[in-house]
Amino acid sequence: MQTIRIEKTLCPKEKPGKDNPLTFGTIFTDHMFEVDYEEGKGWYDPRIVPYHSLALDPSAMVFHYGQTMFEGLKAYKAEDGRVLLFRPDKNWERANRSNARLCIPEIPKDLFMEGLKQVVEIDKDWIPTKSGTSLYIRPFVIATDPFLGVRPSHTYKFMIILSPVGAYYESGLNPVKIWIEDEYVRAVKGGIGEAKTGGNYAASLASQVKAHEEGYAQVLWLDGIHRKYIEEVGAMNIFFKINGVVITPQLNGSILPGVTRDSAIALCKEWGIPVEERRISVDEILEAARTGAMEECFGTGTAAVVSPVGELRYENEIMSIGNNQIGAVTQKIYDTITGIQLGKVEGPKGWSVEVK
Ligand SMILES: *Cc1c(COP(=O)(O)O)cnc(C)c1O
Repeated sequence: MQTIRIEKTLCPKEKPGKDNPLTFGTIFTDHMFEVDYEEGKGWYDPRIVPYHSLALDPSAMVFHYGQTMFEGLKAYKAEDGRVLLFRPDKNWERANRSNARLCIPEIPKDLFMEGLKQVVEIDKDWIPTKSGTSLYIRPFVIATDPFLGVRPSHTYKFMIILSPVGAYYESGLNPVKIWIEDEYVRAVKGGIGEAKTGGNYAASLASQVKAHEEGYAQVLWLDGIHRKYIEEVGAMNIFFKINGVVITPQLNGSILPGVTRDSAIALCKEWGIPVEERRISVDEILEAARTGAMEECFGTGTAAVVSPVGELRYENEIMSIGNNQIGAVTQKIYDTITGIQLGKVEGPKGWSVEVK
């Protein structure tokens, strides 16, 4: 692999103070990773440079047709000072699955991993240490050809930026209210729902705005064809615990395959908790909530790790889940994953990767 060129900033920014509550995604560190791609030449000039604005041609393809991919993961500082990443190989794999769907060239593993590790290493003093905080990492690719025709771009930029983020829930794990969407859909099989790409989020905004206006934190999507089967929530996968069985929708081509989802399933299996990946209908959810068989409901995603759901609304029916308390399995998954992320709990092999 080509060596990564390093150009350190001459004027480091002021870091947020220890008591800064840190919201999500508003503060960025001193450096970023950047590498360009040109057809016939491949990825070239990998570099770590001061965090900077981009100069792009207004006709750059990404602005018009959304040919772009993104990833999200976090770096944590363990009590002994080690810098840890959680399953970064999964993000690399998924990045390239998204790339393949969007006709973006593959990113070699060593380029992705070295770029990631080196930029985190350079800005490791930005990793906050207060409980619940971490350094959010955003790798992403954009299509840069200055061209208004529709075809895959011949040039791209792959970048990694870093943002210190706070605890997702300041007062611990508070159950959220979720709106089951019956008007809009996010994705259908054969579309781009299983790729991590901006277009899926553009498609979700109208629904999110509507749900917020009604006092709901997130939207739960139903499948785009029958409008009947549960898919996922906003930027999280969804789990239910019904009569002792943990159930999550099986990956079906329109659901984003979350790393946290995969981790939660693996942990349940390890603990001997029955877990099923299968199709689950909104009717089954309604029925389980009505009869009290629904014991827990939670979302999984990098940002919040797990997010307990205390209320679901579908059309005019409001379902309250677990007395608005966090369920035992939800809490155990949260404690275990965050424990592994912080190097306090020994996880399955390869889940914790040290940056050094
Ligand atoms: C990123 C994302 C998730 C969660 O994936 P993780 O790898 O667990 O962070 C779920 N759904 C959507 C739509 C996403 O973009």
